[in-house]
Amino acid sequence: MNICSKCIINENYPKIIFDERSVCSICNDHQTHKPFGEEKLLAIFQNAKNKNSKYDALVPLSGGKDSTYILHLAVNVYKLKVLTMTYDNGFLSQIALANIKKSVELTKVEHVFCHSDSETQRKIYKTMLLNSGDFCGACDIATKANILKVAAEYSVPIILYGSSPLENDSFVPDSIQDIARFKYILRNSKEFSERDINNFLIYPNLNLFYLSLYKKIGKISQEVRPLFYISNPSDKEMGNIITDKLGWQNDNSREYSKHFDCIAEPLTNYIRQKIYSYERRICQYSNMIRRNEISRDKALQLYAADQINEKPANYKDILDILQISENDFANIENISPLKYETKTSKINRIFAQLIKIKQTFKKL
Ligand SMILES: [Zn+2]
Repeated sequence: MNICSKCIINENYPKIIFDERSVCSICNDHQTHKPFGEEKLLAIFQNAKNKNSKYDALVPLSGGKDSTYILHLAVNVYKLKVLTMTYDNGFLSQIALANIKKSVELTKVEHVFCHSDSETQRKIYKTMLLNSGDFCGACDIATKANILKVAAEYSVPIILYGSSPLENDSFVPDSIQDIARFKYILRNSKEFSERDINNFLIYPNLNLFYLSLYKKIGKISQEVRPLFYISNPSDKEMGNIITDKLGWQNDNSREYSKHFDCIAEPLTNYIRQKIYSYERRICQYSNMIRRNEISRDKALQLYAADQINEKPANYKDILDILQISENDFANIENISPLKYETKTSKINRIFAQLIKIKQTFKKL
């Protein structure tokens, strides 16, 4: 198998190309992210403060590293009046819950917990998983909707996300967050009323295009990713800072443990490996190599210990929660990638193309 000589991505990664030195196209295209600049971030914060709302910023918390670090920045470094929220996706780990509780306590901020109707949530995850091999998309959609809802209800001018340059390039090729695709799969199963679907979505028509439009005209809160504006500590240093400041605990069973906040993550990653022949960690470790956080040898060593070839230890628990039988589960790995791509929102597809063209022009 072809493996990149710089990172550890292999030929199974979608659309990957290797050059004559066996360097992959992601490494070749990689440009170290240049932060947009702290002064721009400060201007956004000042703008938010000028609105004189009860809260300057909403920080969605998952109990994981990135979102907890954002809370630390917002409260301790930038002195914003912060509201925090968490969407209960049904799979929050005990460590994640403890981290949320502790960080909220230490920063003395208000925290809101959001839930979907748990039976509808379970049925939606089950239907999405059995039909498309994924339910992370359904969770992402509901999380986003709940974040926007809380921001609107409390009139919070900006939302601060923990997504970072490190997280780029670990996507699945399917448009799992597309609302039209999501609705199509659920309607097709005939198990849901339109009301069930719309209640879960909260904003049933909010696809990428409308999201951008509404942000532009100020109909919804501005979404900001602070880690793209400033230079960031390494993944490890970030963990140390929040352990020190916010009592944050890591999942100590692994040296680097992304997404331990969700107990279903090992299972979703296992399925990803089965359907697409690559999984998240190979992307994460490759990103860390490109950012000079770890050596390639170290990445290979970490990946050898982390690789998911067998069903994760807790897979039965997750199947029980979702009420999925072993037989149904066995069929999931036969689902073909990109099965529902023609069912995605047309306006989204055109919009995504336009963005791509714009980015290509920017590069020239
Ligand atoms: Zn590479």
